[in-house]
Amino acid sequence: MPAEPGLGAASRPQPSNSAPPAADEALLGVFAPSLYADHIKVYPRAVRGAFRNIKWLVLILCLGIYYILPWLRWDRGPDAPSQALLLDMSGPRGYFFNIEIWPQEVYYITGLLILGAVALFLATALFGRVWCGYTCPQTVWTDLFLLVERWIEGDRNARIKLDGQKLSIEKFLRKTAKHMVWLLIAAATGGAWIMYFQDAPTVTREILTGQSSGATYFFFGLFTLTTYGLAGWAREQVCTYMCPWPRFQAAMQDEHSLIVTYQGWRGEQRGKHKAGESWEGRGDCIDCKACVHVCPTGIDIRNGPQLECIGCALCIDACDEVMAKVERPPRLIDFISLDNLERRAQQQPTKLKLLRTRTTLYASMLLVVAIVMTVALLLRSEMEFTVQQVRNPLYVALSDGSLRNGYVVKISNKTRAPMELQLGTARLDGAELFLAGSTERSTMLDVSIAADSVGEYHVFVKSARSKAGGLINFDFVLRDRAGREAGRLQSQFAQPN
Ligand code: SF4
Ligand code: SF4
Repeated sequence: MPAEPGLGAASRPQPSNSAPPAADEALLGVFAPSLYADHIKVYPRAVRGAFRNIKWLVLILCLGIYYILPWLRWDRGPDAPSQALLLDMSGPRGYFFNIEIWPQEVYYITGLLILGAVALFLATALFGRVWCGYTCPQTVWTDLFLLVERWIEGDRNARIKLDGQKLSIEKFLRKTAKHMVWLLIAAATGGAWIMYFQDAPTVTREILTGQSSGATYFFFGLFTLTTYGLAGWAREQVCTYMCPWPRFQAAMQDEHSLIVTYQGWRGEQRGKHKAGESWEGRGDCIDCKACVHVCPTGIDIRNGPQLECIGCALCIDACDEVMAKVERPPRLIDFISLDNLERRAQQQPTKLKLLRTRTTLYASMLLVVAIVMTVALLLRSEMEFTVQQVRNPLYVALSDGSLRNGYVVKISNKTRAPMELQLGTARLDGAELFLAGSTERSTMLDVSIAADSVGEYHVFVKSARSKAGGLINFDFVLRDRAGREAGRLQSQFAQPN
């Protein structure tokens, strides 16, 4: 019997070891069970309700932020990009409103990713798969593509009927219109992604007038096709087969995490119900399958918690509509913890237990990472310098009996104005400095670093040979022109033993 459209993995025919071997397998003399389930297209039906409204709000918010953010301007002066959020690979710099991240400060991005990961752990421990059901890009764009599909081809029944029809002019026009709109959305999505890496107005003009680089067109095409393929065609299969998150998100949950659950104790024995019939001796589920028909992954939540369930709660809205019609209490399918499900089944009062060991742990981790990130940003220096000793040769003996060591000094000026500094030494008696190629020796070298750039200096330090020999620890010191110390780094002066 063919599977009903809309019934997902839980209801799909599974590969059977007892099936007779296929002809080609028989020829090989081998019987191997198939590792692949046939794809059964899911036709989610439209639904109204509280969770659906929240999903629309989150969708508008997420898409609004994604498409509008690259167009926000931020004045950083005449020599800097005016885009509020920009990852400039040619710079290379990351611009986040008034924060500028240099490549060596990529740990801020790492910190942000850690912050996001721990926030996801906490949300999962508290509310199950809310990320998957509401904010995951795959869910958001699939929802948008489904909305277009519904507008053009109609709701579930109309789409099943249309797909079952032979090709006609109407079918051709509807399908073409749907794919054209999908491709337009996908192109806007791919284009917006590029705008996070290049100035939005410039790259848009260049793409539209054919003046962009080959690499830009390649990535524009790649992200367009990825969006079209994943949200238009792959849809729930990304969640079911491709995404690793469902496989390990259970590790973050416990019996107190809120999840979408069918209350079997109340729903069973299920069965059709006619108006006016008694509810005595039977459950509230009238087996209408409304919960299955609205499910974007095509599963039947009445079979219990399943890996395919993304926690979108649309089945709750669908079932609540049904319960209202048959005049039974709402929330036969509910957003509750397994612990409370058990309590309700035993007619005990329910308890919302948000404060638990794991949620406290995740919240503390979140707080610590947030504090570390904030402090690191507040203490962020606008000037950084590094010193690397030249190892070959380690030292050179000069004709006056003193020794010379070479160093590469790099000074990063992260401001939008040139920096005038002086480089000297401390803890190295009688030391003199001079730049490679210069004969001018001094205890302090004048160095100037252009705005938003790195100054690199090949510096020699000359000092008398000490009796002890070996390595002497000393400091390179940077001072501003007013003589205030701006930075200090320990280094070593090498001499023969
Ligand atoms: S929508 Fe409610 S009543 Fe209908 S099949 Fe699902 S659980 Fe049963
Ligand atoms: S079973 Fe319910 S919560 Fe889970 S994916 Fe389907 S509609 Fe969403």
